[in-house]
Amino acid sequence: MDTAIYEKTLKARKAELLARQTKINADLGQLKDADLEEQATENENDEVLEELGEVAENELIAIDAALERIANGTYGICTRNGVKISPERLAALPATPFCAECAAEVAEENA
Ligand SMILES: [Zn+2]
Repeated sequence: MDTAIYEKTLKARKAELLARQTKINADLGQLKDADLEEQATENENDEVLEELGEVAENELIAIDAALERIANGTYGICTRNGVKISPERLAALPATPFCAECAAEVAEENA
């Protein structure tokens, strides 16, 4: 399977997330210097920023895992049941480790 296009997409997305993370960390650092009377609002902002950071972090982990699968030749194969993931699904979700069926099952298990 030709993984070049997926690798390119994943690496571009990773660069984007890393840039965003750097910005979030910079914002978090800045907020610490804010005026005392603004602290309550700032703390709320902090939480939102930290949440955003966490989502980005999880996506980065998924992207790294996908890049690893590209490197070892298992990309595009469901890590759960070994089924081939459809190209349409990979185009939409290049970092997904699961076929559509497993993704639905995992989502149900976590619900
Ligand atoms: Zn599967």
